[in-house]
Amino acid sequence: MTQKPDLLVLSSLRPAQMAELEARYTLHRHDTAEDPEALLAEVGPRIRGVVTTGGRGISGDIVERLPALEVVSTFSVGTDSLDLEACKRCGVTVTNTPDVLNDDVADLALGLMIATRRRMVEADAWVRSGNWAAKGAFPLVRTIKGSRVGILGLGSIGKDIATRCAALRTEIGYLARSEKDVPYAYFDTPRALAEWSDILVAVVPGGSSTRHMVDAEVLKALGPEGTLINVARGSVVDEAALIAALTDGTIAGAGLDVFADEPKADPRFAEMANVVLSPHHASGTEETRNAMAQLVVDNIDAWFGEGRALTPVTG
Ligand code: NDP
Repeated sequence: MTQKPDLLVLSSLRPAQMAELEARYTLHRHDTAEDPEALLAEVGPRIRGVVTTGGRGISGDIVERLPALEVVSTFSVGTDSLDLEACKRCGVTVTNTPDVLNDDVADLALGLMIATRRRMVEADAWVRSGNWAAKGAFPLVRTIKGSRVGILGLGSIGKDIATRCAALRTEIGYLARSEKDVPYAYFDTPRALAEWSDILVAVVPGGSSTRHMVDAEVLKALGPEGTLINVARGSVVDEAALIAALTDGTIAGAGLDVFADEPKADPRFAEMANVVLSPHHASGTEETRNAMAQLVVDNIDAWFGEGRALTPVTG
């Protein structure tokens, strides 16, 4: 009988996909181990694959301690919490879960955009509190139609956001590392894009190259009628500058799915009427989380069955 490959689980998947892995691999549960250090010391030398999530990632230290490691399969499209350099140095292939979550993330970006511009959360409270009857009509808000949406990162999710924005009859501009063959206006700095935009949507990857891409200067360029939507990573926005800009009217409002220090969102956001908040839940539907978990398993199976990764992370 051939030996099942040994996998280290840094963070678990959904039960159905854990059961699949359990059937074909020997799982070592670092996520639930009483003594994770002792577990690493005992099984580290024979671990050939790692399962993790965007929230958990994998440090260079752990990679270095797994000499037989071949593949890391992460339940996320973002790889900013994984030490890709260490993986590369140690010849480890990394796989992620692109594309299967695009529709849900794009939907949430649009949901936050409409909820923030139309002040839907405040309007909901207006009805619930009885203010409608007591104080009269809710104040007028700003329309979406005809507004300029600037997409910071026109990758696979950014393009799906653009398609949806076109259906709302907005104008579309974007920034990426290179200009694309698309019918949208290209801007080569975040500041220029923000200056043009009524609504700025951040959907670039996290990591050092995009850290604080939206800073005080970009927020000033977005202006007092402008709205920021962030479905990228908390690190992409200078959160101190954002809180100041929301407080002093430098921008009108923000719809945020991601935060600098998750899950501890800065409590000052909770005091603001001009923000709509979401707990990093853009891909959080039953269907998409299942599809992501399945892709994690399929990548592991393809690696150990056929010697290839289905969705390898490059670069
Ligand atoms: P892609 O790799 O397909 O697209 C990334 C886009 O960002 C590309 O257009 C790329 O430019 C651009 N980009 C990357 N680095 C820079 C940079 N330094 N400066 C300017 N532009 C840059 O990724 P996805 O669309 O699949 O995902 C984007 C990100 O969204 C993820 O990395 C993740 O952080 C976030 N995300 C958040 C989720 C949530 O739950 N809130 C869920 C899923 C993803 P170019 O095309 O020229 O290379």
